[in-house]
Amino acid sequence: MNSVEVSALHWATAQPTRLVWENGLIRTLEPGPREMPEKVWLAPPLFDLQVNGFGGVDFQRDDLSAADLSRAVHALRLAGCGRFLFTLITAEWPRLTARLARAAALRAESEDLQSAIAGWHIEGPFLSSRPGFHGAHNPGLMLDPTPEHLRELRALTGRDPLLLTIAPERPGALDAISLAVSLGCKVSLGHTDASAEIIQAAVQAGASGFTHLGNGCPRELDRRDNILWRVLDNARLTVSLIPDRIHVSPALFRFVHKLMPSERVVYVSDAMAAAGAAPGRYTLGALELEVGPDEIVRQPGQTNFAGSALRQIDGIARAAAMLDVPWQEVWRRMSELPARFMELNQELAVGQPATFCLLNEDASRQRPSLRFFAQGRECHALRRGDAHESCLGRTENGERNGIGQYGSVAGDAGVRQPGAGGQIGSV
Ligand SMILES: [Zn+2]
Repeated sequence: MNSVEVSALHWATAQPTRLVWENGLIRTLEPGPREMPEKVWLAPPLFDLQVNGFGGVDFQRDDLSAADLSRAVHALRLAGCGRFLFTLITAEWPRLTARLARAAALRAESEDLQSAIAGWHIEGPFLSSRPGFHGAHNPGLMLDPTPEHLRELRALTGRDPLLLTIAPERPGALDAISLAVSLGCKVSLGHTDASAEIIQAAVQAGASGFTHLGNGCPRELDRRDNILWRVLDNARLTVSLIPDRIHVSPALFRFVHKLMPSERVVYVSDAMAAAGAAPGRYTLGALELEVGPDEIVRQPGQTNFAGSALRQIDGIARAAAMLDVPWQEVWRRMSELPARFMELNQELAVGQPATFCLLNEDASRQRPSLRFFAQGRECHALRRGDAHESCLGRTENGERNGIGQYGSVAGDAGVRQPGAGGQIGSV
């Protein structure tokens, strides 16, 4: 017998819940005992629609390796994120597609990477090249989308979930959106200054999202008519927000929640390599970026932000604090809701991998401490230079301790072998 179980409160219903897993798969999920550790919660892993790199690994590298990806996946899990869309930003078209082909081949060879990389997000080069709207993307590399571009992306990704961010005012974009949707892609508008009429036409063509609202636009906007008002006036788009207090001000963050239908607000980290790693200099493709202790990502000498260094669990805590609600109320905005947007299931269920978060509220109601289990094995922070057994198997390079800043989880988080009284701290 090598089954293991945990009893904890269900994140959404607050009901005591008993989860039993065996060989990495959930065997039982049922109401739990009344007497159980308090303040320990069971939640599905976070799902991030936009990750450009993580844990010191830049996904825009031409020579990305399987070890790099595993390292990033491990660091993401330590931040509570069990699934994500591998995101590529604007580059020369042949280079971008080569990077996508390489990542897809690496993922195809690893069940672990398949479980973590839920699909792909291509953010560029079909974006606005206007000042301010292109953000950190190179405006000289922007393209109008053609049917050939879309078919090439679809051929490289097979039937995998594929999200495209497109500026609908580009010539040919509305037809491209229709074609992309007919090819099974999701289309999110972004890095755009489209008129209200073009946004409406893009929605009719099948666009269903808006990428990181409040960013990908100039710092100064016309107060009377700007891209924020036009998007907020259109209730049919699912908008993503970067919940770090920096990319979107707390007032705008709260305002978007009040204004939009609740099901249509999701969170993304837009993280780059510095997330889950130490402050310093990092690359995002051809860009050299600086990340300070404040975790703000800047192009040296410029004021615009270039992605974030946000860990997903920090985003949950900051969102809960900005909205003044418990973390449980915002968890679905980075789990269930983005998964549903991509037409994927994110529920914990019998037969599914035992990949979940255990959250302990000893710290606070808005900032719980976290333990992450991937296919039934607990992920542990690695120390630099150590070779450890991790949730990935043997891994060589370490990364910053991702749990320490929340304080360690109390020993009684309730992970036990069925029938045995003793604790199993790690499985
Ligand atoms: Zn962007």
